[in-house]
Amino acid sequence: MKNKNKELICSFCGRAESEVPLLFPGPNGAICSDCAKRAVELTEQFFQEEKQCEKPASDINLENVPTPAEIKAFLDEYIIGQDSAKKYMSVAVYNHYKRLAQRDYKDDVDIEKSNIIMVGPTGTGKTLIAKTIAKLLKVPFAIVDATVLTEAGYVGEDIESLLVRLLQACDYNVEEAERGIVFIDEIDKIARKSDNPSITRDVSGEGVQQGLLKLLEGSIVNVPPNGGRKHPEQKMIAVDTKNILFVCGGAFDGIERKIAQRLNTNVVGYGKDASKISEMRNNLLSYVAPQDLKSFGLIPEIIGRLPVLTHLEPLDRAALRRILIEPKNAIIKQYIKLFMMDGVKLIVPDETLDFIVDKAIAYKLGARGLRSITETIMIDAMYELPGSGKKTFTLTPEYANTKLNASGYHMAQ
Ligand code: ADP
Repeated sequence: MKNKNKELICSFCGRAESEVPLLFPGPNGAICSDCAKRAVELTEQFFQEEKQCEKPASDINLENVPTPAEIKAFLDEYIIGQDSAKKYMSVAVYNHYKRLAQRDYKDDVDIEKSNIIMVGPTGTGKTLIAKTIAKLLKVPFAIVDATVLTEAGYVGEDIESLLVRLLQACDYNVEEAERGIVFIDEIDKIARKSDNPSITRDVSGEGVQQGLLKLLEGSIVNVPPNGGRKHPEQKMIAVDTKNILFVCGGAFDGIERKIAQRLNTNVVGYGKDASKISEMRNNLLSYVAPQDLKSFGLIPEIIGRLPVLTHLEPLDRAALRRILIEPKNAIIKQYIKLFMMDGVKLIVPDETLDFIVDKAIAYKLGARGLRSITETIMIDAMYELPGSGKKTFTLTPEYANTKLNASGYHMAQ
């Protein structure tokens, strides 16, 4: 084709030979170098997307998956207490990987997905359990906060964006992500406000739960590679969620009341005996059942897709103390190692451990506070000791108290 000046033009963009870097003539037309370059890019993109959609072959071999008892033993090394939750998780995870291996068995029995929901006060180890399992299984793991999710079209993040974290955790290897574990924290925050289906819009509640359904049960989801909101021109990554294990966690503040109502137990009836009430409250959580989640505001469809329900106990003083020193990477062990690397022997007497635990309880920080309190106490020593020539350092409760008071830590709480 030629233009009115009799110049050869590109059959794709219509620009003349004089307007483009190069023009390649063919029998029935021509293509300029810019259009040819674009064509190559589009072709590469097409084949890449096709490759991403191919289903990974089942290479999960049950012999490589640890048994529930082995999973639990591994969890025991990192998580103090929470035996019930650790047991439920170990079985659910084992069954999940059996499910991935089931393609090798030619029968009509289809093992269904065992997504998990953990109910328990904040800072009691829900995230830690999920994270530790992912470490054991060497699968990609992502933590997402349900509170940032909103129904499509509203301010916040699209539900699909929670898969972005999983993709990022494995360098966008879709095949790996499709076998990963996603921990959805604060699932209780997307409970609808009342047990009755609402008539008004519930942007971050029921709508989000509806959106989560398809992810939990397994479907092919188009994920915006950079998260946030989808927009029409964006290239999407197709992720099949069929084999992704979803673990949800939430504090479900006040769920004890729902449990008590269901069990027909009058907690208030114990009058002034506060210790009895609190003991009952702690026990109440161990009776948690799917109906209570429904009374709390999770929709039945979501509850149905989270068939494994388990609870975590509040951590008492003894548990907090053990957390400081017992787990494989206990906080105190970490500090001992840090000092040892500078040639300093760190000694932490029992009274100092008690002091740290007391402060964590006083500030109502639970296990999460142990680290920040210890960090505050140690900062000066970590600054001064390297290069000082000192060979030992004893962290006395008096020293800890002085440092904590001087830091104004209590003011910030
Ligand atoms: P949540 O239940 O809110 O998800 P996390 O699992 O994030 O709580 O716990 C916060 C931190 O507290 C963890 O990183 C860990 O250091 C500590 N921790 C909490 N519970 C336990 C536990 N049972 N055993 C050992 N450490 C714990």
